[in-house]
Formats: sequence, structure tokens, C-alpha cells
Amino acid sequence: MDFHFTSMVISVFHMKRIELISFDAEGTVVTPAFSHTIWHEAIPALYAKRKGLDIAQAKKRVYDEYDAIGDQRLEWYDIEYWFNYLDLGSCEPVIQSCLHTIACYPEVTEVLSSLANQYRLIVSSGTPLELLHCLLRDIRPYFARVFSSVSHFSQLKSPDFYLKLCGEMGVKPGQVIHIGDNWQFDYLNARQAGLNALYLDRSRRNHQESLGDLTQLKHILSPST
Ligand SMILES: [Mg+2]
Repeated sequence: MDFHFTSMVISVFHMKRIELISFDAEGTVVTPAFSHTIWHEAIPALYAKRKGLDIAQAKKRVYDEYDAIGDQRLEWYDIEYWFNYLDLGSCEPVIQSCLHTIACYPEVTEVLSSLANQYRLIVSSGTPLELLHCLLRDIRPYFARVFSSVSHFSQLKSPDFYLKLCGEMGVKPGQVIHIGDNWQFDYLNARQAGLNALYLDRSRRNHQESLGDLTQLKHILSPST
């Protein structure tokens, strides 16, 4: 992490009374493997079987359909929508068949257990609850609440979503840190709502003003541990 950014973050946080830490889910506390397997492997495989296509043809058609919707529309995130639209039956067996791919990043349990002693922790995700409940099954007890922008508020992770969850939690935006790996949905939109937003770049490639993993967040908030 950039030294000047570290210093800046520490000074900002010391001036404010942080009450709540909000975490994005996928790419932040849990790996993208579960979603990748569902959207890029299991759904095309089922589509191939149902339509009598080979897997390469099925992938092309399904990916083209994903691209036609895009991640700025709610349908992109809605697994029920896709199973209906692609005529795939119930999504539950597919979800069950992919559960073995769920994994947290290595530092997550230790960081959450440490921060949970000092702060209220929540999840603020764009993933629908059907998938989010599965993803968080091993770390759910660390969080006071789990918010899905799509399932709870029928919206993307907009500035308005962040204001709503502050209202639900009874805190001012300035009392919240949100951290996530999407520049638009986690950093820009949370910051626009007045939260203390931190951008997580696990690749450590894209932005200088970013954290490389959640251990760095712990060190910023609990420098003595
Ligand atoms: Mg994410």
C-alpha cells in the first residue's frame, strides 16, 4: 500500500468515530469461484443439455445473453430471472451442485474475528440473497446484518443503497467504512453517499490508492495488533 495513502487513511479515521464496517461479499471476503462456477460453467452446461448444443456453442449463446443485459441492470444479478429466461427449470439443484466451490480469502476469518470485537460489521452486497446466504455460511456469525441491494432494495449498489443501509443501522455515513473490490459500486458510490470508502485491489495492479488485502484494513483500524 502506498505510504501516503496509509497515512491519510489513518489520520482520517482517527478524526472520526467509526461505528460500523461494511464489507462487499464477492471478491472481498469470499472468492468469485462460486459465482464463476454457477454463471460460467453450470448454467452453460445445463443450457447445452437442454438445447442439445455442445458446450462451446452453449457458452457462446449464454455469454451473449449476459452481455446483452450487462452489469448495470438488475436482471444481471437475478438468478431466478436467468433460469426463467433461459428455460432451465429450478436453480436450486445448480446452486447445490456448486456449493463445494465456496471459499473465503485466507486472511478473512482472522480479520473479521479481530474487528468484530471493536466494531459492528455488516455485509453490503449486490449478490441476491439466494446466493449470498450460501456464500456467507461459514462467516455469517461475524456480521450484525447482511444486506443485498438487489433483494432488499431492488437496486444496484448506488449511493442511495448506502444511505438506506446507514438508516437501517442507525448510523451516519461518516461513521461507516465500506470496503470492496468494485471501483464503481464499492468505492465511488459509497464515497458519494458520504461513507469512508476503501478500494480493495487484490491484484495490486489497478490503483495506487487501494488496499491489497483485508489485513491492511485491520492494521489501519487496530495499529497495535
Ligand atoms: Mg465484489
